[in-house]
Amino acid sequence: MPSHPFPDFSGKVALVTGASRGIGYHIALHIASAGAHVIAVARTVGGLEELDDNIKKAGGTATLVPLDLSDMAGIDRIGGAIHERWGKLDILVANAGILGTISPVSHVEAKVFDKVMTVNVTATWRLIRATDPLLRLSEAGRAIILSSGAAHSCKAFWGPYAASKAAVEALARSWAAETVNSALRINSVNPGATRTAMRALAMPGEDPDALPHPSDVAAKILPLADPALAETGKLFDVPKGRFLDYRSPQ
Ligand code: NDP
Repeated sequence: MPSHPFPDFSGKVALVTGASRGIGYHIALHIASAGAHVIAVARTVGGLEELDDNIKKAGGTATLVPLDLSDMAGIDRIGGAIHERWGKLDILVANAGILGTISPVSHVEAKVFDKVMTVNVTATWRLIRATDPLLRLSEAGRAIILSSGAAHSCKAFWGPYAASKAAVEALARSWAAETVNSALRINSVNPGATRTAMRALAMPGEDPDALPHPSDVAAKILPLADPALAETGKLFDVPKGRFLDYRSPQ
């Protein structure tokens, strides 16, 4: 019997970005432990290798892809390589993200704004474009797009990050609407405050031990990859433990 409470992902292929640390690392580890072959993307080779070691210890397998996601042609190459080697993709986890700087909108440096939009938004769109045909070839394609409570709270000084997360949620909803009659299920997720490098950068004065561990948060995100999942085009809120309704302004 498997020691984890996750769905059986045997025979499935999963692409996880931002897998070198934090939430993405643990999503990748859980999915691989549950039987999927994980394609793990990030820039930091050391983090990917540590992930690979732990996936092997758990009896799983992974392919490591060191890539800067601002390399759009590199994202396209991943799509081509998955098609050649596996002929389909079952699970996409678009998790990689950056915070940028915490500062008034009117003070944000142009290069910081552009970088946040490139990594958080344009790379996510490019991943969607590269993987949509592969996910449609799966019996139960699942896409999980990492958002943030910031997309809706729009707190002071979080402008570029908040805008980038609102943008990826909008992309995910449009994509879900376009694929509603297919087997694909696409949802955004707010992981909530989690004990990671990004959170420490955003809130340096906070006690990290007061926050949930990324392994526990990742475990709560995994059901969004379940072949039995019915929901699509929704936002799953980890702290609340449920899907939230998007309200139409009309
Ligand atoms: P971390 O900073 O701990 O990890 C971010 C991951 O993204 C790393 O693996 C990093 O890998 C990767 N990444 C960043 N830039 C690039 C790039 N240019 N190319 C490839 N990979 C990149 O963040 P978290 O784990 O905290 O966050 C994961 C997701 O969850 C993000 O989308 C974040 O916005 C969201 N989130 C997190 C919250 C939290 O409290 N932690 C709260 C709400 C949302 P590398 O540097 O090796 O490239």
